Amino acid sequence: MAFVGFEESHEVRQLAKSLIDEHHPHLKDAIEHIGFYIREGSSKWAGKAKKCTAFERHMTDYMLFVFVNKESWKAMNKKQRAALVDHELCHFTRVKWEEPDPKDARNWITVYGPADDPDSWGIREHDVEEFSEIIERHGLWDTGIESFAAVVREADHQLNIDDVNRITRVK
Ligand SMILES: [Zn+2]
Repeated sequence: MAFVGFEESHEVRQLAKSLIDEHHPHLKDAIEHIGFYIREGSSKWAGKAKKCTAFERHMTDYMLFVFVNKESWKAMNKKQRAALVDHELCHFTRVKWEEPDPKDARNWITVYGPADDPDSWGIREHDVEEFSEIIERHGLWDTGIESFAAVVREADHQLNIDDVNRITRVK
């Protein structure tokens, strides 16, 4: 049987921390509840996000996991690594509601479910999903994919077919 190994990664955690500070307010107080692991062994994906089962919580004390494939990680540059980890963090959702600000009742603030309560956490699927060969053959044919492309155009780079292949390999 092919070897599979897991190692907690300080490097991935540090990168996630800076991405959370900038883009994921719902994860700010939850970073210690997320386990970041490099997975050694062949896999079809570059990264994976998952909500822990009760047994995984028991074993690790984490609520959520991010896995990164070791080979992919080694092959990626700094920007690609940031995109991968940012992508995985986008899969995590958290229960939230609006409440009047105790400091100023005219304002409403967003309150999140407790970080240590499993019921606070969920996983969301991609906004856009498509086979790379369909994009290769037909371009960005669907309206959902067009709005995705608009976001990509706003981002500071072109979506070339290598990017598409890479994005579709990410889980
Ligand atoms: Zn994904």
